[in-house]
Amino acid sequence: MINVSKIKKGIVLDHIEAGRAHVLYRALELEKVTDAVVLMQNIFSTSLGKKDIIKIETDYNIDFTVLGLIAPHTTVNFIEDGERVKKIRMELPEVVEGVLKCKNPRCITNSEREIAGHKFYLYDREKKEYKCEYCDTLTTYGE
Ligand SMILES: [Zn+2]
Repeated sequence: MINVSKIKKGIVLDHIEAGRAHVLYRALELEKVTDAVVLMQNIFSTSLGKKDIIKIETDYNIDFTVLGLIAPHTTVNFIEDGERVKKIRMELPEVVEGVLKCKNPRCITNSEREIAGHKFYLYDREKKEYKCEYCDTLTTYGE
């Protein structure tokens, strides 16, 4: 068995819901990373039963908004010199800027001019629904 459990430097996304790693891989555009990226799925987990893990062996600038939207509760481990130097637990973001698009075709944000800093506010945590700050239309992140 190849030992992929330890990386020297980079980011490990742990506790990803089983089967979701490939969605994250695409959404975080990990195909752009030129260093090693390891995607592991259906790994045994005491807390989750099964989980997915992604290891990125470089300092990759992750879009944490996208990560939080797709995989809240993911643990992000930052590794340097083979040691974990920082750990963050993701949550569904309360406010999302620049990632979502309003579903309402008549919304001002869908007019020709782009509205800078267009925000969406978390409305329903269970359904991952966000409310447009301009027209109150509910939207979810399209994976
Ligand atoms: Zn809107």
